[in-house]
Amino acid sequence: MTLVILGGGESGIGAALLAKKLGLDVFVSDANIIATQYKHFLITHNIPFEEGGHSEEKVLCSQEVIKSPGIPNDIAIVELLLKSGIPIIDEIEFAARYGKGKIIAITGSNGKSTTTYLTYHLLKEAGFHVAIAGNMGYSFARCIAENSYDYYILELSSFQLDGINNFKADIACLLNITSDHLDRYSHSIAAYARAKLNILRNMSSADHFIYNADDPIINQYLYELNTSSRLYPISIFTEMQFLPAIYSNNEACYFKFKEHAFSINHNLIHLPGPHNRYNTMAAVTIAMLVGVPLDVITSALPSFYGLPHRIEWCGAPQNVNCYNDSKATNIASVQVALLSFNCPIIWIVGGKDKGNDYTVLLPIIREKVKAIICLGKDNATIMQAFYPLGLPMQETNNMSSAVDLALSMALPGEVILLSPACASFDLFKNFEDRGNQFKKKITCLLSNEKHA
Ligand code: ADP
Repeated sequence: MTLVILGGGESGIGAALLAKKLGLDVFVSDANIIATQYKHFLITHNIPFEEGGHSEEKVLCSQEVIKSPGIPNDIAIVELLLKSGIPIIDEIEFAARYGKGKIIAITGSNGKSTTTYLTYHLLKEAGFHVAIAGNMGYSFARCIAENSYDYYILELSSFQLDGINNFKADIACLLNITSDHLDRYSHSIAAYARAKLNILRNMSSADHFIYNADDPIINQYLYELNTSSRLYPISIFTEMQFLPAIYSNNEACYFKFKEHAFSINHNLIHLPGPHNRYNTMAAVTIAMLVGVPLDVITSALPSFYGLPHRIEWCGAPQNVNCYNDSKATNIASVQVALLSFNCPIIWIVGGKDKGNDYTVLLPIIREKVKAIICLGKDNATIMQAFYPLGLPMQETNNMSSAVDLALSMALPGEVILLSPACASFDLFKNFEDRGNQFKKKITCLLSNEKHA
């Protein structure tokens, strides 16, 4: 019998490669046209596939189906599979059956990539044989098919966690839960929270779970679960009393465990904003749990400046500091970006709205924002939401004029922040394209200044 893989993206082709290496009879089926590089990959590895539609007769004779996380459960072929009782799993579930190394799994609505990469950086600096996979870099399955590592650091989305049965992390981390992707969860935050907390499934008393103790949604749903794994709550507001205690105040991050305690001064951390303290404390806790020596942690932290498109400083034309936060595609990430500055902000917002409730931002906008530039194909919802604040507001549908407008309103020492709260697909290829266009414009302004 054939193993069918639905979806020919990174996770699908990773699963296909692993299956092929295991000697399984594998077939990839995609409702859309498969990207050229992945098609080439399938052809090179002699893996049969179809694109532009699923042939029911082929898919329904599979003994098990691996579904890519981007495919929702309510499409016809998935409903047919469910009706026929054919097991549907995620690529991470499949890959975990064959991986030998320890699994460190990181999830949350925001901060996954930053925390995953920082954790990788700390382990790598300590000389560990470690891979980064999942939502970042290669899929977990491709990673296992191509090499073997002692540690796999996986960035996992709720969609990936939806499709696990026996997958078990040795160390898991849940950074936060805020409204995002609710369209995939019948607009139920409870369903989304339970999907995120699925990360704890199968974890036992030998495993470690690091989570944000300041997050009311995590607290609410965690206690439903009655997990036996070892808990590591993290707070940036409360000096925790019980061990393990991991918290920060205005000076440092504190780590107190049964065996030892240490602190890390904020001047070693070059990531902006209080939210990055959660990311840093989570990464340091993971590093400590796998045995990275403290001196390696403290010497590696200062060389991590964060990832592009996450509150990334891009220069200061006319002495106005410009930050690219193109990856901020939901309300919570914009909130933390605005909280990261103590001077007036000219805020560039907009794009493909995912059903945002902008009212939660009103108090912080009133406090921090001096002017708003709406950048999107359809700016009406955003204009309406912020109109009551009476702030100067302009709209445009291209990046270059958005930056020009912002700069015309800014004074030296102020900040221009691209933090869109929306997806990028209305005007740009993706969030990277949006951020790169912003950076290109800043570079161009700086070069004009230099030659003026
Ligand atoms: P993810 O992979 O979950 O999307 P990223 O690290 O790529 O997370 O960051 C995405 C956005 O969320 C960026 O705008 C970033 O500034 C913001 N962000 C990063 N960490 C956090 C956090 N702990 N809480 C809230 N927002 C965060």
